[in-house]
Amino acid sequence: SHPRPPAESLAPHDVFIAVKTTKKFHRARLDLLLETWISRHKEMTFIFTDGEDEALARRTGNVVNTNCSAAHSRQALSCKMAVEYDRFIESGRKWFCHVDDDNYVNVRALLRLLASYPHTQDVYLGKPSLDRPIQATERVSENKVRPVHFWFATGGAGFCISRGLALKMSPWASLAKHSIRHSAQRGPAQLLPLLTLVLPSHSGGHFMSTAERIRLPDDCTIGYIVEALLGVPLVRSGLFHSHLENLQQVPTSELHEQVTLSYGMFESKRNAVHIKGPFSVEADPSRFRSIHCHLYPDTPWCPRTATF
Ligand code: UDP
Ligand code: MN
Repeated sequence: SHPRPPAESLAPHDVFIAVKTTKKFHRARLDLLLETWISRHKEMTFIFTDGEDEALARRTGNVVNTNCSAAHSRQALSCKMAVEYDRFIESGRKWFCHVDDDNYVNVRALLRLLASYPHTQDVYLGKPSLDRPIQATERVSENKVRPVHFWFATGGAGFCISRGLALKMSPWASLAKHSIRHSAQRGPAQLLPLLTLVLPSHSGGHFMSTAERIRLPDDCTIGYIVEALLGVPLVRSGLFHSHLENLQQVPTSELHEQVTLSYGMFESKRNAVHIKGPFSVEADPSRFRSIHCHLYPDTPWCPRTATF
């Protein structure tokens, strides 16, 4: 594919990158990201987790404790996505990007890609996880369901949404607290403290109800809102990568252009990007340290090749 010409200039604070994590992965996964790509892009990156961690809070101010459950349930994950969406809307930034805590984000490539689209228009960018649209069943009323099919970008490869599109998603994605406050204002004033008592601090609001309507995970729910409800097609990009594809196939010579990378398991085998050095596979099994040194050779902890 040809590089697209820039549509607008983008500064780092125009982009909101949400990293989804959970307390048990703070040391196991997040520390590696903080040492590598996040260290260069602190102002863009927001960490969404489910447990207090003083050590993490000392390393970055941008930690959001979602108060969502730490379970790997559909509800817990869509609760986190709802909070991510809400914080992005509040931030006023131009682009929302969501990644997992096993993603490396090549921010220079990300900015180049996003700058080629106008943020005021409807843009949903990512990599489909299936080779055909997902077939789902949509609950339309108490006792009526109907089939629905749509494409969605796999959350494990990361995806991005323009502000223009994100604003249109609000009836199905926003936290309910805003609409609750409005209705409480119209009713008797004594109702407000009552409602606050009854509702958990993050009910997950509209996004969780939308996810329950199709009973699918958070990334599918995003696709459902964007493609099925708003009629905006997913823009496919081969520059996003999850560990559900063979990462050995990403050529080292093209690492500079890739927007996201990952590591993990694929077909019950260890899956990581193939890059020779500077760190061994034993010292750097994810390959993220080696990738980071390849992209940012001036990093203090990267071994210097004698160039003088
Ligand atoms: N995750 C989470 N809560 C959990 C388990 C996982 O928020 O209870 C997050 C995790 O931090 C990661 C994403 O969900 O960002 C995907 O998890 P993982 O990579 O373990 O699973 P995968 O779906 O890729 O196999
Ligand atoms: Mn994963």
